[in-house]
Amino acid sequence: MTESSPKTLQCLIIGSGPAGLSAALYAARADLAPVVLSGMDLGGQVSKTDAIENYPGFESILGPEMVSLFQQQAEKFGAEIVFDSATEVDLSQRPFKVTTYGGEYLAESLILATGASVRELGVPGEKEFTGRGVSYCATCDGHFFKEKDLIVIGGGDSALKEGIFLTRFAKSVTIVHRRDELRAGPYLEKKAKENPKISFIWETIVTDIIGDGTVTGVRLKNKKTAEEMDHDTDGVFIFIGHDPNTELFKDQLDMDENGYLVIDQHMHTSIPGVFAAGEVGDPHFQQVVISAGMGAAAAMEATEFLEDET
Ligand code: NAP
Repeated sequence: MTESSPKTLQCLIIGSGPAGLSAALYAARADLAPVVLSGMDLGGQVSKTDAIENYPGFESILGPEMVSLFQQQAEKFGAEIVFDSATEVDLSQRPFKVTTYGGEYLAESLILATGASVRELGVPGEKEFTGRGVSYCATCDGHFFKEKDLIVIGGGDSALKEGIFLTRFAKSVTIVHRRDELRAGPYLEKKAKENPKISFIWETIVTDIIGDGTVTGVRLKNKKTAEEMDHDTDGVFIFIGHDPNTELFKDQLDMDENGYLVIDQHMHTSIPGVFAAGEVGDPHFQQVVISAGMGAAAAMEATEFLEDET
């Protein structure tokens, strides 16, 4: 593609998680010759997930393996996956213009599947010790903590699932949660509570991450009593939810108060021809199977949108 005259695509998909790759499969099978901008990580969050046990048809499948299957299937039907990221998007007129690190794309329809990114805690020491004891990815970093004592922060499905995963390596995993009950579902709660390596500290927040080159401890504060104490640990894994990746679309598309794209039940955003799928427009479910379904729906809607014009 030359910078002066980019070809106008029928369908450009931004993002390569389950939503983006399912959209690619459906758009390719509808002969839209879709191009997918992969973003930094092909497969998105799934590529950093250990085992997925709730995608129908797979009792258990490794995240990277699932991404690879999604990719192969989309490419088999003609989708093109480009290892590049969008840096700017102009939705003011059609064809829509998307600038990337590598060039520029024009597209008659867009499917936004940029997903969400892990949320940071925002306490002193967090940035300083990221990669030196602070992590947001158990699959990536768990094996560095063999026979170590770890803290996991959060009370949702991610904290429990990743906490359980970390017990493969760690000597102990202490889950620090700010309330006295979990947000996670009952299956993971049961598994975590039955795990002899896991213990809980309730109604407590981490106010500081302490270290000397690498993490050595955290400062805890009980929310009820305001009592503070230091707690020794070799690593801190933070799983406190996600924020949608919608910075690119600010002031162009409708968003809710948390920055998620507002979409209707047919995956339409506030601009005709621009569709969204997956976590970028789903503050509620955030499941692989649902993101994949949303991607398929968005591609079907894009197909109909383009057909209606001919
Ligand atoms: P989540 O459900 O939003 O849970 C985030 C947890 O972090 C909550 O317990 C929350 O506390 C806590 N938290 C948020 N901000 C905090 C802060 N500043 N300090 C301390 N704690 C904080 O996020 P998630 O666990 O990442 O899950 C996201 C979605 O993915 C959910 O829909 C979940 O069901 C899904 N998921 C599913 C699986 C599965 O295997 N089925 C696995 C992973 C994720 P409060 O509870 O007090 O709000």
